[in-house]
Amino acid sequence: MRNGLSKDLIARVLGDAPKYTLDDLEAKFPPRNLADGAMVTRFAPSPTGYMHIGGLYGALIDCKLAQQSGGVFMLRIEDTDTKREVADAVEIINASMDRFGLKYNNVESYGPYYQSQRKDIYHSVAAELLATGQAYPCFLSTTDMEEIRENQKAAGFPTGIYGEFARDRNLTEEEIAAYLDKGLVPSIRLYSMGKPEQRIFCKDAVRGSIGFPENNEDIVLIKSNDGLPTYHFAHLCDDHFMRTTHVIRGEEWLPSLPLHVQLFRMMGWNPPLYIHTSTIDKIDEETGKQRKLSKRKDPEANVAFFLEAGWPVEAVIEYLGNIAASGYEESKMKGQVKTFWDYEMRAKKIPMSGALFDMKKLEWWAKEFIGSLPVPDLVCRVVNWANEYGTDINKMQIADESYLTSVLGIERDNPKRVRKDFITWSQTLENVAFFWDELFVPNTEYEFNNDVLKAFLETYNESDDKDTWWGKIVAVAESLGGKNGDVAMNLRVALSGRTNTPDLYSIMSVMGGERVKKRIEGVIK
Ligand code: GLU
Repeated sequence: MRNGLSKDLIARVLGDAPKYTLDDLEAKFPPRNLADGAMVTRFAPSPTGYMHIGGLYGALIDCKLAQQSGGVFMLRIEDTDTKREVADAVEIINASMDRFGLKYNNVESYGPYYQSQRKDIYHSVAAELLATGQAYPCFLSTTDMEEIRENQKAAGFPTGIYGEFARDRNLTEEEIAAYLDKGLVPSIRLYSMGKPEQRIFCKDAVRGSIGFPENNEDIVLIKSNDGLPTYHFAHLCDDHFMRTTHVIRGEEWLPSLPLHVQLFRMMGWNPPLYIHTSTIDKIDEETGKQRKLSKRKDPEANVAFFLEAGWPVEAVIEYLGNIAASGYEESKMKGQVKTFWDYEMRAKKIPMSGALFDMKKLEWWAKEFIGSLPVPDLVCRVVNWANEYGTDINKMQIADESYLTSVLGIERDNPKRVRKDFITWSQTLENVAFFWDELFVPNTEYEFNNDVLKAFLETYNESDDKDTWWGKIVAVAESLGGKNGDVAMNLRVALSGRTNTPDLYSIMSVMGGERVKKRIEGVIK
């Protein structure tokens, strides 16, 4: 520690007198009045105009843990990097959370929830550290720091502002005042007491206690260019005064953990319990190796992709939930729970590495989910998707909603034997495209038996019930010396262009007599 600065100098250094004392802040943001075990979590994205699937994964865990424990889940916008700010970014985050059903509860008295609006709080805490000599104003310019760095490299020292290289850590009040008189604006740096030859033990709820060398860097707490905090300092102040109990964040933050624990201990505050989650990886198609999902290379890194492509949001949630809580699938298959939200997940079981995003597995969850939807819901979801994202062709398919309902209703009336052939809303419409004359593609490869088709047409009556209809197929087969199945296959391919379809009788009923006749006649010609 160094000598603390006087009140007046602190006000000059920070550009203003601090608004609060630490006691004021403690009183303003008291511990939350929640039952034992209630978790207070937060999703804290930086507004970059994009919601990454890894962000959604983290937010889901935050939301789930808070919800199941009767706690609070917050959304905090980490907008302290004014250079990276993007218009509409917050709308994108909000819309994504809303779509995926992640509800947060930003209790006003613990706000504001935009870091850019919390300057008073950061400056008040910084003022306290300046007063006690645990932080100091630093006037190093970019050029100064580059020079220090080059010298450190040349001499084989670790780079950074620490110990003897921290030029300004022991400036006198007069020296500080002289810099300020010249109009220079300092950053505020931590006066680090850490010694890298000593170890600091930090707790991660999943990984257990991890030893790290202590941090000795005088890291920046408040930036000189805009007076806003760095991530580290904002994390300290916000997660303390928002009374966060569990910080769930990506494993890329693990190396910063010793610094964060150091900061909390310096303040005499209890750190939150940390959970560092695995990044979401994929197997690279070219190299066959596991790598992070990349914003540039992988469309599925952006959650908007799933909405546009028509994946059921529930399936994405179920799938991500099962990565976070691998017991969920079994519990669901046993019928113990209906959705991920009913499943009691355990924070300690969140995987710390190797979370793989596998589209095939997602398909399975999607088929399960769509298979469980009642027909009116299925129609509604398909229609909503097509209206928002569909092509003109999709829009044509949804125009006659009662026809669409009959088409999608085929073989979906038996809850014990549901079809699981629909994956996305877009693929659903593609799957049933043959029901629309505009989209029907006749099969030119199949070797039709025209005699069979003619014989069937002669007896066909669209109002036949299923038994009568089947009786006629059997009769055609008998009269021509063929098999029932061959007759049915001829009809199936003539009507749909495909050899594999749902129930043929249902297809004919939905298509209606005229369309059936036209398609069969089309083949005979
Ligand atoms: N803004 C940080 C990020 O987007 C938040 C990390 C955290 O959850 O603390 O990576």
